[in-house]
Amino acid sequence: MDIVIRNLTKKYGAQRAVDDISFTVKTGEILGFLGPNGAGKTTTMKAITSYLIPDEGDVLVGNYSVNKDSQEVKKSIGYLPEHNPLYLDMAVIDYLRFVAELQGVSKDKINGRILEMIDVCGLEAEKHKKINELSKGYRQRVGLAQALIHDPEVLILDEPTTGLDPNQIVEIRELIRKIGREKTVILSSHILAEVEATCDRIIIINRGKIVADGTSEELRKHSQGKEILRVTVEGVERDAFIREAQQVSTVEQVDPLDDEGSYEIQSRPDLSSRKSIFALCCEKNWVLTELTPIQTKLEDIFHELTMDR
Ligand code: ATP
Repeated sequence: MDIVIRNLTKKYGAQRAVDDISFTVKTGEILGFLGPNGAGKTTTMKAITSYLIPDEGDVLVGNYSVNKDSQEVKKSIGYLPEHNPLYLDMAVIDYLRFVAELQGVSKDKINGRILEMIDVCGLEAEKHKKINELSKGYRQRVGLAQALIHDPEVLILDEPTTGLDPNQIVEIRELIRKIGREKTVILSSHILAEVEATCDRIIIINRGKIVADGTSEELRKHSQGKEILRVTVEGVERDAFIREAQQVSTVEQVDPLDDEGSYEIQSRPDLSSRKSIFALCCEKNWVLTELTPIQTKLEDIFHELTMDR
C-alpha cells in the first residue's frame, strides 16, 4: 500500500512545524525519516496515522485520505508512537488480546494472530510476564507486536530503538527489516547508522522542510561533488610534493595530514586525480604507499543540511 503525502502543512500558532512537504513511499519500501530535534518528524507521522488533522494538504494511505477517511486510514496502519504507551499492569498476552479486540481482529483469528506476533517479535519467554516486569527492549517488542497485531499494510515507527542497548538495537533492526519485506514502513530516528542499516531510502527534514531525499549512496554522491583522496608518499619532502601535486591539472587542493607523508587531495569538480597522482609518483620515483578515496560520512551530510543558517 503506497503512502502519498501532498503539500502537507501543520501549524502550531505561528510556527509551521511541517511546512508544505510532499513525498511518496512505495509498497515494500522502508523509509527512514531523519532530522534534528523539533524538525517535524513526529508531527508528520501523526498526520500520516491520522492522529492529527493537517492544516493544509493531504495524506493518502492506499486510496484513503486522512482528511476524508481517517477511520479507514487508522485500520490500514500499525503505529508505534514515540513513547510507546503500554498498559503496564497487563500481562503481554492479555495486552495483545486487548489490542487485537480494539483493532477489530475477528474472534476466530485473535488467538492465531497473538501466537504469530509472539513468535515474530521474539516474546515467547516473556508472554506471561506483566509489561512492567519487562526490560525496555522487550517493551519495545510488545510495542511492535501491538502495532502489527491487525496485520496492517503500513507500519509507522517513531524512534523504535530509543533507549535500547546495542544488542537490542540490532535485534529490533533485524525485526523491522524482516517485517519491511512485505509492508510499507516509515521509521524516524536520530541515529544515522540505524537509518543507513535499516532503510532503503532516507528523507532528511529540517525546520518542517525536506532537505534531502534518496538512498544513502545518492545522498553521499549529491553532497560529495568533489573527489577527496588520502595519499601517503615516501621519498619526497612535503613542500616538493605539494608543489608538484598542485601542478596536476585535475587537482584543486593539497593539504598535509601529518609529518609522515600523508596528504588529503581534493580534485576539481567531477574529475578524478587517482591516475595522475599515481603517474606523478612513478615519474618522480616516489613510493606511493596509500591512495584511498575518502567517503563523505552521512554525519557530515546531515550536519551540512540541518545546521542552523
Ligand atoms: P524530536 O526528534 O525532538 O522528537 P520531531 O522532529 O519529532 O522532534 P516534532 O515533535 O514534530 O519534531 O515537533 C516539530 C515542532 O512542532 C517543534 O518545534 C515542536 O515544539 C512543535 N510542536 C509539536 N507538537 C506541538 C504541540 N502540540 N503544540 C505546540 N507545538 C508543538
